[in-house]
Amino acid sequence: MTPDERQGALDSIAAEVRGCNACRLHETRTLAVPGEGNPETEVVFVGEGPGFNEDRQGRPFVGAAGAFLTELLGTVGWNRSDVFITNVVKCRPPENRDPEPDEIAACAPHLRRQLSVIDPALVVTLGRHSLGTFLPGARIGQVHGTARPAESGLLPPESTVFAMYHPAAALHQGALRRTLLDDMTAVPVALRDARERRTATAPAAAATAAAAPATVPAPPSVPGSDPDPAADQLTLFA
Ligand code: SF4
Repeated sequence: MTPDERQGALDSIAAEVRGCNACRLHETRTLAVPGEGNPETEVVFVGEGPGFNEDRQGRPFVGAAGAFLTELLGTVGWNRSDVFITNVVKCRPPENRDPEPDEIAACAPHLRRQLSVIDPALVVTLGRHSLGTFLPGARIGQVHGTARPAESGLLPPESTVFAMYHPAAALHQGALRRTLLDDMTAVPVALRDARERRTATAPAAAATAAAAPATVPAPPSVPGSDPDPAADQLTLFA
């Protein structure tokens, strides 16, 4: 798929999302929020659902939680335009309540199609509902900051899922801000490992990916840090 074809496919999905009435959330939304970002990226961030500001603007993560997500990306040298950002449900649950299982199920085809088009090596889940969509049964308190093979039909099994708390959680529980910052430092390493895992499990596809230009920049080196097993990933995208 060429970059133009990929962008066109994502635009088509976004148009369908904006007109979707497959669950009750369409009744109370202002604007649906399909998601946005780099269609050629290797990393997709998946949150839970739009909030007040996202519902008004039709864009994901534009409020205070979005500002923190942008800050988190910046800590590893990435911008929002380097990745793709979306949610498990594309319409705001009233009063920011949790999305219901039937709403997540109704919206899953949109997410599945987006992921099929982008074909990311790594999906970063933000919050427990996103985590549960990709790794059913996993508990956020136990798996945050770690990567695992995808376990749902939303991704091919050679894809990798990295779990994080939702950035909004840090707005309510200050201690989680440090946790999110610490977990974010492991995301570039998880991407390196995800690429290697793809190479091992899907050699033909990985060879094609390896020949493709870098889609996210190298994270910055950490002054004074000791060499470690992850050090080689600093030049992966140079
Ligand atoms: S949340 Fe998803 S399934 Fe429900 S109406 Fe919005 S786009 Fe459609």
